[in-house]
Amino acid sequence: MKYGFGVDLGGTTVKIAYFDETGTLLNKWEIPTRTADGGKRILPDIAEAIAGFMMQQGIDRDTVLGIGIGVPGPVDHNGTVNKCINLGWGVFNIADTLQSLTGFPVKAGNDASVAALGECWKGGGQGYENMVFATLGTGVGGGIVVGGNVIHGAFGAGGEIGHMVLNRKETETCGCGKRGCVEQYCSATGIVRIAKQFLSASDLPSSLRQLDVLTCKDVFDAAKSGDILAGQILEQVYAYMGEFLANICCVTNPEAVVLGGGVSKAGAPLLEGAKRYFDQYAFHACRNVQFCLATLGNDAGAYGAFRLILQAFGH
Ligand SMILES: [Zn+2]
Repeated sequence: MKYGFGVDLGGTTVKIAYFDETGTLLNKWEIPTRTADGGKRILPDIAEAIAGFMMQQGIDRDTVLGIGIGVPGPVDHNGTVNKCINLGWGVFNIADTLQSLTGFPVKAGNDASVAALGECWKGGGQGYENMVFATLGTGVGGGIVVGGNVIHGAFGAGGEIGHMVLNRKETETCGCGKRGCVEQYCSATGIVRIAKQFLSASDLPSSLRQLDVLTCKDVFDAAKSGDILAGQILEQVYAYMGEFLANICCVTNPEAVVLGGGVSKAGAPLLEGAKRYFDQYAFHACRNVQFCLATLGNDAGAYGAFRLILQAFGH
């Protein structure tokens, strides 16, 4: 039996997981991400954590296939990181650097793309070869799996579905500097933004008006308990989701759309609502798509990172 590591590198913590080659997660732990001094401690910290774990567990180096790592920024298929602002990183080859620190082969990918690969392999998209994954959280990230492989793109920005333009008439600016991005309508932040617009434009009574701080969950909860305005807000959100997912599916024609991130905790109503508009906007031959929820939660990135290693060096 061979083994390997999947690493999910985030802005505050690094999640490290140890897998066997069948994809069973055997061990996982976290270390802090030290971003001081241009993030130069981050990779040595990971190398030390893995070396320490192997020593403690008595793991034979020859049984380790390698280390996969998901990074919060663009990474091309050779492992070149094209700036990770929140880690303080510029442009360099992370695969080469981590390989020289550990002595193991390294494969790297963008964190959202790697999470998509994880969900396709062992999560909500298990059993499908072609999948669109959207993480609907504070922002919108995503990944596209085609024929079992995740799309990295020429410069590592493949699958950046959160910044597709949905509304050319938008006047507010997205975090990326553009206007009208998917993220402005389909993220938790975006849903709250739309809710506030509806609340100020409408005279309908709504339980949402009594809240000091309005959250995305409040909107879903209110709609569930029959609040008409909350229902209208979500119809607008579902229409945006259905439209952008239909557009992506016209390109990739997947078997499944998997929704993850905090917004996906809304569950069945979200899947049903987004699918209803999807069916309206999708090209007829692309309509046969299963809408599913992500199941791996915070472990998706580690699973996908290890999957990169299996695809490159496994058998
Ligand atoms: Zn944007």
